[in-house]
Amino acid sequence: MRPLFIISLDALGDTDEAVYKDIPFFKKAIEHGTWIRKFTSIYPTLTYPVHATIVTGRYPDTHGIVNNLKLQPEKLSMDWYWDEPSLQGDSIFRAAHRRGLSTCALCWPVSADGPIDYNLPEIWPRSGESYLEFITEKSSEGYVNELTEAIDLTDSAPTQPEIDDYIVKAALHTFKAHKPDITLMHIVQIDGAKHKFGPYGKEVDAAICTVGQRLETLFQGIDEVTTDYDVMILSDHNQLPTHSEIRLNAWLAAMGYLQADEDGMVASYRAIFFSGNGSAALYAENDNVAAEIEMKLREADIAGIKTIYSTADVPGLRVDPTAKLYVEAEAGYVFGQSAKGDVDGASNPTHYRGNHGYHPNTADYGAMGLFFGPSFQEGKVIEEAALIEFAPTVDAMLALGLEGAETEGMDVLK
Ligand SMILES: [Zn+2]
Repeated sequence: MRPLFIISLDALGDTDEAVYKDIPFFKKAIEHGTWIRKFTSIYPTLTYPVHATIVTGRYPDTHGIVNNLKLQPEKLSMDWYWDEPSLQGDSIFRAAHRRGLSTCALCWPVSADGPIDYNLPEIWPRSGESYLEFITEKSSEGYVNELTEAIDLTDSAPTQPEIDDYIVKAALHTFKAHKPDITLMHIVQIDGAKHKFGPYGKEVDAAICTVGQRLETLFQGIDEVTTDYDVMILSDHNQLPTHSEIRLNAWLAAMGYLQADEDGMVASYRAIFFSGNGSAALYAENDNVAAEIEMKLREADIAGIKTIYSTADVPGLRVDPTAKLYVEAEAGYVFGQSAKGDVDGASNPTHYRGNHGYHPNTADYGAMGLFFGPSFQEGKVIEEAALIEFAPTVDAMLALGLEGAETEGMDVLK
């Protein structure tokens, strides 16, 4: 089988086109491949739900990854959806495994303990343990040891940009050593730069440049093994500039729906907002409580709230069907999880200068895609496509027998 590389460049946006299209690696790929100038993501535009959509062709209401985190209000720091078994239904990994194709996943979200032959999942120790010891348990057997020897993977790996550097080296090593049929990589430096510095500026441009250079180096190495392979580059979401954090759980606490201690830790609740940064979901003990809160929220006219989606709107958003309401922030604002302090964003400056989680149809907020290799049409430009169409495109290309995808694939294949 012709090997396929699927590379997610986290947070590279359609608005970054002027920067990336002149970087040699991307420029050549645009000339020789199919370029999707705008990929419309899914709601909420958070890394884990979107990556689950990328490998399933389904929305969060059926794949089950509804946020990056699991709602665990009793925990100071909630668990991430790291584990592949959290994913409901079929996926590219599962279908490839059934077909006997070999797969490699490098820092791919929601992949830990998945049916993946060479798997270094995106997980990190959260209480000072050694990265290598922690990750060995959740990676495919023997793979961390192999990488430690082959590419000098060390305990510094969870930091940026070292982790992208490791991923690229690990991809090259693994291809040379095992030639997996499908390699999936998640590159996160651009997302990190946008969070820290805001979505636009020289630091972000530099990160995009570095990523272009890393990919150039990777494929120069792959070319030494074979030139017969396909590449699908895509991003998961863009970011918007942020300055203020709205604390809806502090607002619920003030009205008695939620009880929190002095540190903002939730002790009990009849209703709680679960932050997805640019959006937030309301969970409530029943529909009456949700309706009460919706009415009060509309009356309160809190600065920075752009849209309130009613219970009846939730199914159409294709988000967590157990949520009662969704709220959407205006550009500049995010929702915090804390029940402490003031609800008003003006009192709560954000730590991050860029963020995501907003509705995928928000202006200047698209993702992108770029596919090249012998299987793809050359010199084709698609102005806009939907990310939900990605997995069925891979399915059509490799005849994986992927089950449950909601749409047909894109017209990008020869
Ligand atoms: Zn992301």
